[in-house]
Amino acid sequence: MCIFGAMAHRLINIAREEDILPAYRDTPIGRLLGYHNLGRPFDTYDSADLLIGMCMDNRKHLNIPDNFAFIIRTGGANLRYSEFKVSYAISVGQVRHIALIGHNHCGMVNIHARKGQFIEGLVEQAGWEREKAEEHFMHYAPLFEIGNEIDFVLSEAARLRLSYPKVRVAPMLYLIEDNRLYLIRE
Ligand SMILES: [Zn+2]
Repeated sequence: MCIFGAMAHRLINIAREEDILPAYRDTPIGRLLGYHNLGRPFDTYDSADLLIGMCMDNRKHLNIPDNFAFIIRTGGANLRYSEFKVSYAISVGQVRHIALIGHNHCGMVNIHARKGQFIEGLVEQAGWEREKAEEHFMHYAPLFEIGNEIDFVLSEAARLRLSYPKVRVAPMLYLIEDNRLYLIRE
């Protein structure tokens, strides 16, 4: 009956304030979960409290107050090629918390399955030479492939924690079916 089937044991359902892990509860990460999942009334922000890394996918929308967060959107919430922007949000933007939000049915999983469509699309829609489109795909697909949404977000969280030891990083998953955020069990 569960909409997320095999992923269920890896996710923490946030249906009440008490479901938010104590480490996150009184932090911008807890407030994000409160705003988006629990209908927490919006606070007023003059500056950002949080950096959110999430996928560029069009099926997702966060319920959050104005000014609350910097948001970097990339395929698969992959921040490996956004390092300078992450550093900027931390140093100049002064955020101490990162919410890294993957989602199910992500287009960055098994990119190779869409190789033909990708190349065809660039030729048809953008006017590229087929050879250039093929090279482009072969060069970039391995860099942007994430394998599995949950494992990837966990590995990205681990990488960011190593890079920025004083910053708290919370791995999450957004479920397309119910538009809710789940903490990923670690
Ligand atoms: Zn995605």
